[in-house]
Amino acid sequence: MRLPWLSPGCSDSKLTLAQALLFSRLLSLLKDDILLVQPLRVSTDEAPTILPPSVSEFMADAVGIALDSVASCWKKMKKDIWKLPIPTLSEEEEELFRKYGWRRGITSFSLYPPSHYCENPACCRLKPLKKATTRQVIVYTLAKGVIPTYEIQLYCPDCNTTYFPDFSVCAGARTYYGGIPPIMQVGAHQFVERKLVGMWISLMLVAWVSATNCSRSYDMSLSEQDLRNFSDGGWQFGCILTTDHVWDAFILLTLLDHNERQGTCLIIPHTGEQKTRFTAAMKARNDEVVKRGQDVVGHCCDKCLRVWREEGGAERHIQPVVCDGLSMGHVRCQVAHCTTELASNRDRFCPDHAGQASQCSIVGCNRPARQDHKSCDLEAHTAMERAHYERGRAAFTLRERLQRHRQTHPENALDGDEEELDDEEDLRDDIEWFETDAAGNVRVYSADNPGSVGVVDSDLCEASKAPAAFRESSIFSAGCT
Ligand SMILES: [Zn+2]
Ligand SMILES: [Zn+2]
Ligand SMILES: [Zn+2]
Ligand SMILES: [Zn+2]
Repeated sequence: MRLPWLSPGCSDSKLTLAQALLFSRLLSLLKDDILLVQPLRVSTDEAPTILPPSVSEFMADAVGIALDSVASCWKKMKKDIWKLPIPTLSEEEEELFRKYGWRRGITSFSLYPPSHYCENPACCRLKPLKKATTRQVIVYTLAKGVIPTYEIQLYCPDCNTTYFPDFSVCAGARTYYGGIPPIMQVGAHQFVERKLVGMWISLMLVAWVSATNCSRSYDMSLSEQDLRNFSDGGWQFGCILTTDHVWDAFILLTLLDHNERQGTCLIIPHTGEQKTRFTAAMKARNDEVVKRGQDVVGHCCDKCLRVWREEGGAERHIQPVVCDGLSMGHVRCQVAHCTTELASNRDRFCPDHAGQASQCSIVGCNRPARQDHKSCDLEAHTAMERAHYERGRAAFTLRERLQRHRQTHPENALDGDEEELDDEEDLRDDIEWFETDAAGNVRVYSADNPGSVGVVDSDLCEASKAPAAFRESSIFSAGCT
């Protein structure tokens, strides 16, 4: 790089070498901010002649030079600065942004859309986009903790498309740009570095760390939020990472990764609630994995596939499959063989069978359940419900629960403990039945759920096979899967 400040005749811009380096490093980070406020006719490929006033004032304070020296140094160095790669700032340089930049709306990096032009192929606009909305946001990073910054959205008035840092929005649909962005939006004002999301996913898969514990450990050890006072720069919202942010980051990265491998762009609704935003995309991805997710699904060879013709002439194929007989249980409606989805994982019945929630849970009894209970007013059925909960409180369950408490954060375990206990009872998937002896005492028995190989049995499942006399089964807990 040339050193114009050392050449003769530059008495107005005498910079030391350190100042000159700082001047070029800081300005090379602010290229997008400099471009945004330039008039339409100024090309985005070259360094503009004039710096925005806020940038000039910031540079004067940060480098320690007069305001008019900033303009003359910029004039001499702009071509070289424009070609510089994005530098990694030192802690002292970051501090300069905190001290002199934040109050002027300047941060060490801002989140811009990838281009200053409209990328919609159906749009004919060739001029740069100048209608911008700026919002304060925060970015969770692995190396630098929580960083306050600005998100800039660019709007194309010709095709009504808004460009966000990760996606564009048109007609209520959010289309991601393709590939996986280095920083992903996970909340209204929250972004997460991709590397950090990758770390959470591997912690969940390898070490069974819950999303809650991922967020807590980040807040406690990596966020460095106690070192900075964000309200100095006007960031009023908190920077605590929540469990929902971790889950949304998990889902988003998984979906983006899936789309990247398919060579497609992820499209999700921009309107509506965050909790339902990914549902359709997740279903499509799961269907795709079921159909084509395993390389060997399509395998057949002369050894494992037999083809024969039936008497009637129809061709039949047979292919043996070897499996271990275990299947992962999942929540489902407690009506046998009902495949309708639950409205919430906490529900016992699907919306179609929701009416049965107010019926007695003992199989074969259709009497109405008592208020806040799952059994009717028959003495035997009341006793069965009591026996069900007593079993839940027995020592072995407490041991199980202790194990689970070790995996969740103490604060969570304390919230609504009683309620959680009931919910856990409902989510147990072993088979439970009751026997009444001659004296009328009810005893509870249980057996492991045998599971299935993923085929829906046409016969009734084990839980429903209990003989009617003296042996009544219950559907207090989830049935077989
Ligand atoms: Zn456009
Ligand atoms: Zn084969
Ligand atoms: Zn159902
Ligand atoms: Zn009953």
